[in-house]
Amino acid sequence: MPKTSSSFEDSPPYLYVHTIGCQMNEYDSQRVQQILGVQGYALTGDIDQADVIFLNTCSVRAKAEQKVHSYLGRLRKLKARKPGLKIIVAGCVAQQLGASLLGRFEHLDLVLGTRAISSVGGLLHRAVTRSERLVHLPEVEEDGWDSFLKQGHLTSPGVVAPVTIMQGCDNFCSYCIVPHVRGRERSRPADEVLREIRLLTEHGAKEILLLGQNVNSYGKGLDEGLNFSRLLHRIHEQTTLLRIRFTTSHPKDLTEDLIRCFADLPQLCRWIHLPFQTGSDRILQRMNRGYTSAHYMSLIEQLRSLCPDMGLSADVMVGFPGEAESDFRDTLRLIQDVRFDNLFSFSYSDRPFARASELPDKIPEDVKAARLAELQHLQGEIVLEKNRAEIGSVREVLVEGSSKQSDGRQLTGRTEQNRIVNFEGPTELIGRLVQLRILNAFQHSLRGERTAC
Ligand code: SF4
Repeated sequence: MPKTSSSFEDSPPYLYVHTIGCQMNEYDSQRVQQILGVQGYALTGDIDQADVIFLNTCSVRAKAEQKVHSYLGRLRKLKARKPGLKIIVAGCVAQQLGASLLGRFEHLDLVLGTRAISSVGGLLHRAVTRSERLVHLPEVEEDGWDSFLKQGHLTSPGVVAPVTIMQGCDNFCSYCIVPHVRGRERSRPADEVLREIRLLTEHGAKEILLLGQNVNSYGKGLDEGLNFSRLLHRIHEQTTLLRIRFTTSHPKDLTEDLIRCFADLPQLCRWIHLPFQTGSDRILQRMNRGYTSAHYMSLIEQLRSLCPDMGLSADVMVGFPGEAESDFRDTLRLIQDVRFDNLFSFSYSDRPFARASELPDKIPEDVKAARLAELQHLQGEIVLEKNRAEIGSVREVLVEGSSKQSDGRQLTGRTEQNRIVNFEGPTELIGRLVQLRILNAFQHSLRGERTAC
């Protein structure tokens, strides 16, 4: 068992994990927990107890990157008090800034790029035993896609387990840094995806969340001639899951075939996260998104005509360079027309490598802030109305665990449409589907009770 300090002869070394950003990062952080868990590290929620701090970073938005810098700055004092502490930075900021992070933060020990997660164990060992400060930014995943499987890290998945099916992106939206820090699209062979899902279900997972920057274009570059809808059919046929979800989808790659899966595959949740970014065709073109707002609306119509109770969420951005007031009104109109169940809204910020950072007509910060506030107010009203419309209905919920806010007295789960429902019940229900009558509705969750049957 590795030791990172001489102060704990009988206790294990403790790992503290902090994740900023997307579900891909959450997934990578889980991998790190499991890899280091096998090496004897115990997870702690108390940063002062930590012997290793793993910070997984995001650089998609300037704000997320600023958070990384201030977080690392705050760790300086902690390291001064505890010199044996090892600090690791991984993810997109690590990939983007590389060795310069070590120069700027002298208390930092390891910088791991986006394809270096499987190497964390060996590199940490070198940092601990030889006091080396290391930067590792490999061009490709070193152990290939199945490193997670080879290392046997699947012993305790949650009820909902993420599975990466592809990485990187070929779309080069003009505002986005992802293709530059995560690389070009790579799809994972279907047999490996299925093998991981089977292992996860054997160890208790009931729902799988298939992850990728653009899962709809799954299959590019594989010999198998398989696309994403065929992969969904295979997963459906060859596993015993209660539920399947996927994210993220790109409107230009959402085929009729894939839309049909929502009607044809009972285990596939009637929910999709389909970012539209803006309701203005002029801005969509400047963003290099590859579709129009009319096309986006036609996809929503197809989804809802096949599955009227389809759950819909999306990403939207305000203040892209050149966004006129009329473009912003087009965005609000699209939100009113679709009435999303959930919306992730952001202000545009310049990102390194992204072409939009060179565009003229930048929008002043105060205008961006006012537009974002107006958009979020509108969406808040829509969500509350939609949640209130759920009151009195009976929904099937997959119970995921104890509700964090209830000292363990309440359970929490999700409807197919991805709405969170809290209710009282015994912990034996965790991992099972239950029928809940919806009693009350809030901005971010519902409250329910078990029905007799
Ligand atoms: S689809 Fe566009 S926004 Fe999404 S990761 Fe790729 S380049 Fe970025």
